[in-house]
Amino acid sequence: MTERETMTERETMTDEELHELAVKQTALGEVRGVPAADPVNVPMIRHWLTAMGDANPVYLERGLAPPAMAQVWTMPGLARREKDRSPVDDMLAALDDNGYTGVVATNCEQTYRRYLRVGERLTSATRFSGLAGPKRTALGVGYFATWHITWYTEDDEPVADMLFRILKFRPAKKESLPPYPLQPAINQDTAFFWEGAERGELRIQCCADCGELRHPPGPLCPHCRSAERTYTLATGTGTLFSYVVHHHPPVPGRETPFVVGVVELPEGVRIVGNVVDCPIEEVEIGMPLRVTYRAMDDRLVLPMWRPE
Ligand code: ZN
Repeated sequence: MTERETMTERETMTDEELHELAVKQTALGEVRGVPAADPVNVPMIRHWLTAMGDANPVYLERGLAPPAMAQVWTMPGLARREKDRSPVDDMLAALDDNGYTGVVATNCEQTYRRYLRVGERLTSATRFSGLAGPKRTALGVGYFATWHITWYTEDDEPVADMLFRILKFRPAKKESLPPYPLQPAINQDTAFFWEGAERGELRIQCCADCGELRHPPGPLCPHCRSAERTYTLATGTGTLFSYVVHHHPPVPGRETPFVVGVVELPEGVRIVGNVVDCPIEEVEIGMPLRVTYRAMDDRLVLPMWRPE
């Protein structure tokens, strides 16, 4: 069954009905969840500190949790229980059912009222606070949903708050994506480079005042701060300065493994690009390379590098 067929079989709500549901969910006010499965505890704090690379000894020495862990203690996980349902869940389910299946978080604002201590058991309380849309965004048409969570101790003391906002959007249809979906961000600082690639030229940005070359392109000369810029044509040769072999994750439109190199140009700048036409085991730092231009689809030409 195609995605389109699935859509038409679903109960679809109008924009008005989605907003009516939002008003209803907002009117529920703050809804308490179930108490956290575990109290604030040392193993989770230690795990967090390791993952974050936070070497501050104060937490473990004094039995305090890093404030940014607030949400950790009550995370429901995938096996969320029905009695732990929040006013947000029905709203998000309705958006899913109406085709707004894409999700991206846009805002997260946390407020910490004090440090949490080992042994305290938290309960989160959620209130839905707004639905805005439908709005046209770069990702597709969607709704912004906002809610607030407050964490309470067993004594009903609020200890941390969070505003969270997500965009639920209708993902663009696959056929509208180019064959090679990873497109560079082309703007007025970088357009000259991509226009050059289309013509088989390796253009390097150049300060129009002091002549210093720079890559990647940018608005100001890091040498003299001038905003006047032009470009020069590189000879198209270079040596491999560094590289990685990309095995995973999969990249749309590319076959793995492939080599991503940093190539040092005789002009004095370095540029990132794929090393191609060379068995991976023969790729080595210092090897001489020459630029080659590969069309990824009918819109994008990428400069790549092959053995000289
Ligand atoms: Zn300059």
